[in-house]
Amino acid sequence: MTSDDLADLLGPHGLRALGDCPDGGSTITLIGPDEPAFWGIFHDSPEYKDGDANPLDRWSMRVLCAVADRVDAQALFPFGGPPYAPFFTWAKQTGRFWASPIDFLVHDQAGLFVSFRGALRWQAEPLAGTTGQPCLTCADQPCATACPVGAFDAGYDVAACKAHVASEAGTDCRTRGCLARRACPIGQGARLSAQATFHMEAFL
Ligand code: SF4
Ligand code: SF4
Repeated sequence: MTSDDLADLLGPHGLRALGDCPDGGSTITLIGPDEPAFWGIFHDSPEYKDGDANPLDRWSMRVLCAVADRVDAQALFPFGGPPYAPFFTWAKQTGRFWASPIDFLVHDQAGLFVSFRGALRWQAEPLAGTTGQPCLTCADQPCATACPVGAFDAGYDVAACKAHVASEAGTDCRTRGCLARRACPIGQGARLSAQATFHMEAFL
């Protein structure tokens, strides 16, 4: 099984490999949504429609465990802890993620909207990372100043962010996604409003 084989298995689920982290004799491949295709596929799933809690986590577990069986891998997830698997550390070891000026991870293709649905630990040759950190050549760094309530002025002020998102003034963030994330030129426009709203409702 190769990375191309894995891509063929993930694509029909609206998922893609985000980067490979060497792990001893194995490789940990981080998996995330391939937007915008992902949202329609998840939206049509039984987990989304059944009304039970944590539909996205349950969908991720079902889909990625099935993919793991096909490539003889161990499926790993960022939820279900404690303890929690070190996705942030793995991501930075792929050479495709970096800490942004607002401390969220930025990915070379998904930008600040990157998220993990899981990972596979398997026997595959790790793919190399990409070229340098995009923030180093992003002159204006618009992510750092886009938040209307300055939630990133001194670390991430979750309470200030939530208060704004829940308010009338925060309708744009609530229905179209975080303005700071949307300000990043990488991956801009890939996230659908319906998906942004789903995540914001979960966040609140
Ligand atoms: S907007 Fe610029 S500085 Fe901010 S995360 Fe994106 S590339 Fe980096
Ligand atoms: S969601 Fe809105 S209020 Fe929260 S950090 Fe992003 S821009 Fe600021």
